[in-house]
Amino acid sequence: MHKQYDVIVVGAGNGGLAAAANTAIAGLKTLLLEKHNIPGGCATSFRRGRFEFEPSLHELCSVGTAERPNTVYKVFDDLGAKINWEYEKGHIFRTIVKGEDGYDVRLSAGMDAFCESVDAVVPGCKENVRAFLKLKPKIAAAIDYIYATKGNPNGLVMLLKHADFMRTAGHSVEEVMTALGIPKKAQNLINTYWGYLGVPTDELNAMHFLNMLHDYVVDGAAMPKHRSHELSLALIDVIQKHGGEVWYNSEVTKFLYHEDGSVAGVVANGEEIYAREVISNVIPHNVFNMSDPDKIPEQNLKLANAREFGISVATVYLGLDCTAEELGLEDYTVFIMGHPDPRTQYNTRHEDGLYIVNCLNNVIPDSSPEGTSTLFFTIPVFGHDIPKDLKPEDYKKYKNALAKKYIEDAEKCLGISIMPHIEEISIATPVTFAHYLGTPEGTIYGYKLSGWDNLMARTAGEKTDYAIPGLSFCGGHYIRGDGYSCAYIMGDTIGKRVAKRLKGEN
Ligand SMILES: Cc1cc2nc3c(=O)[nH]c(=O)nc-3n(C[C@H](O)[C@H](O)[C@H](O)COP(=O)(O)OP(=O)(O)OC[C@H]3O[C@@H](n4cnc5c(N)ncnc54)[C@H](O)[C@@H]3O)c2cc1C
Repeated sequence: MHKQYDVIVVGAGNGGLAAAANTAIAGLKTLLLEKHNIPGGCATSFRRGRFEFEPSLHELCSVGTAERPNTVYKVFDDLGAKINWEYEKGHIFRTIVKGEDGYDVRLSAGMDAFCESVDAVVPGCKENVRAFLKLKPKIAAAIDYIYATKGNPNGLVMLLKHADFMRTAGHSVEEVMTALGIPKKAQNLINTYWGYLGVPTDELNAMHFLNMLHDYVVDGAAMPKHRSHELSLALIDVIQKHGGEVWYNSEVTKFLYHEDGSVAGVVANGEEIYAREVISNVIPHNVFNMSDPDKIPEQNLKLANAREFGISVATVYLGLDCTAEELGLEDYTVFIMGHPDPRTQYNTRHEDGLYIVNCLNNVIPDSSPEGTSTLFFTIPVFGHDIPKDLKPEDYKKYKNALAKKYIEDAEKCLGISIMPHIEEISIATPVTFAHYLGTPEGTIYGYKLSGWDNLMARTAGEKTDYAIPGLSFCGGHYIRGDGYSCAYIMGDTIGKRVAKRLKGEN
């Protein structure tokens, strides 16, 4: 007798956890299958010596506070998952551009303070910057409406009620900024944030960027007190409290289909397991590779083949034998770049493009043992940026050279001494992320959200792009794309949608 569930969720990353929590709460018999021995995917932690490192999260956006909760705060709160949220105070980031045209600037949190901090560097632009940021609530209202209509919005409503959305939807960040009269230098300052999305701002859809920028400016950047592992464990608690089953070390190797082409279940640990619906936190590419090709609609296969994989990162995690104060670093987030322009930063990403240095102790002082601190370097690169002729025996040397280069550069740019204080070091590349997450090319953001595959196109095409009955997707590879917040929001939305359908409430 085969095991039978209402819902199987494949993958316990952020999207999968939020989806499974919703279906379990709805009283549906839920099974969450995870190939790793702990939950979270990217959202986890790891230990080296006396340090517990955050492997991925720099900051979460759209969290807000208990007094002014934003979407992600509400997702966790509504699920009954209690999180100790901490916030970066004062500034949202420091941005350093090297060289003659360079600058070293801190951009402040809060709408007025942010506009003033840009204006202090590029006088006379604050109202233009404000006009840009003020587009966000209008865009969010339009996106909510489109989701509410399940991707079938009324054209007249869109034109009459969501005109600003219609005007901006097809344009890049830089096109919209230029139309609003924001000078190029101010654009460059603000657009430093492209580094968190992996797409340069002359290509990145304005709505997508605005969603993130606005919420970081208004809400500030949030993070859980006990690394992102805290978020994942809180959701696991919710799932289990509501009767959901979680199986670790359980890699799904096959998706099973009924004769009519609808999904019937999966194979994990060599066992066939059936469900009324399956939710995949695993990227469509991998799902299709685990499926009988005849069962995948041709249009879906073509779409997957046409897509570009999103960016990945190389990272360096350092445990230091001195405090942040002793180190002489007071910022949480510092972006360091060889050039002011995002396109050039992107094109030179493996030479002198852009990298990020985070010191968690400057938000959570006791995030490492007393008298110590941690640094987290992030360098946006693609899996295919790794030299093709790199031999396995040279991989360690490659990683060490990469870490040395960025540590020495940060020492120079920040005027601090890091090397003598290194007690623990760990280095990851897209190979590491491919290994742990199972994603093609080690992508951490699914598919590149740009060009024809932008947020707008994905939202409008939801019905046809993901058209296999009984199978839903959620996670960073899905409609909203990148990051923690988007993955949680999509997992929450899809979990609720599947629960309603199975309970006949649609
Ligand atoms: C270094 C780094 C820094 C980042 N910084 C930020 C940041 O500051 N802010 C931000 O918002 N985002 C950041 N991100 C991106 C963010 O972490 C991801 O976009 C998000 O966590 C993706 O969530 P997901 O739901 O797609 O799941 P994933 O994290 O991709 O997890 C998928 C899960 O599925 C499991 N799985 C895969 N295949 C199978 C299978 N066949 N069977 C069973 N289980 C399977 C995997 O083990 C994994 O647990 C960062 C990511 C990295 C790596």
